[in-house]
Amino acid sequence: MMRKAGLLVWQAHRLAASMAKPGVTTGQIDGAIEDFFRQHKASPLFKGVPGKVPFPAVTCTSINEEVVHGIPGRRKLVEGDILSLDTGCKLDGWCGDAAVTLPIGRVHPEVQRLLDVTKGTLDLAVDMMGKCSYWSEVAAAMEAYVKQSGFTVVEAFVGHGIGRDMHEDPQVPNFASDQLRRGGDFRLVPGLVIAVEPMVNMGTKRTRTLRDHWTQVTADGRPSAHFEHTIAMTDSGPYVLTGAPAEGETL
Ligand code: MG
Repeated sequence: MMRKAGLLVWQAHRLAASMAKPGVTTGQIDGAIEDFFRQHKASPLFKGVPGKVPFPAVTCTSINEEVVHGIPGRRKLVEGDILSLDTGCKLDGWCGDAAVTLPIGRVHPEVQRLLDVTKGTLDLAVDMMGKCSYWSEVAAAMEAYVKQSGFTVVEAFVGHGIGRDMHEDPQVPNFASDQLRRGGDFRLVPGLVIAVEPMVNMGTKRTRTLRDHWTQVTADGRPSAHFEHTIAMTDSGPYVLTGAPAEGETL
């Protein structure tokens, strides 16, 4: 059931990737994904999420130094930008949630490395989930990988359990945290489903909130990247529910 929602999120990301070019606005991409979910009778998860103001869109679009929770609008993408796009939907009562950072045209090589390392951190997490007993082991490996690359892991935001609701227990930090040491750790057992979402900054890990009450930016204005998958633990290991269809799998 969750795979169906996950596949729809994967398709929404494909649609976004096909549109993410210089001259296109984040609002146009958001509108296309809203239409896509509606056509497939899925409910968007992000619109109306409570805050000082309810989140007003179906996707979070975060450009360059924006880390997460950027609001789509009239801003046009330009060559050399990076766009972090996060979206999720509920289909037949089950949720899927995924994010990807897209290069707009040609980006600076160091920015491309930031994207590669952040994607690499998520890939590493999936791999380690098949080999480790506890999440804390995966989180420590993710943090070490990012440190080695010379970048930093954002600590103000973490991943989450996901199922009938988008945000469920447990919290899923992408670093070796005090919270994991103080009883927040959990076993990687079949039936567990979590959204793993490393956010990696080129400079400081610190973030601040813009006056729109949502957009999170890096404190030093340097770029940030974000990749996320919804991942289920099964008897045969981790299953990336928001991943590309397998051969022969129907959409
Ligand atoms: Mg998420």
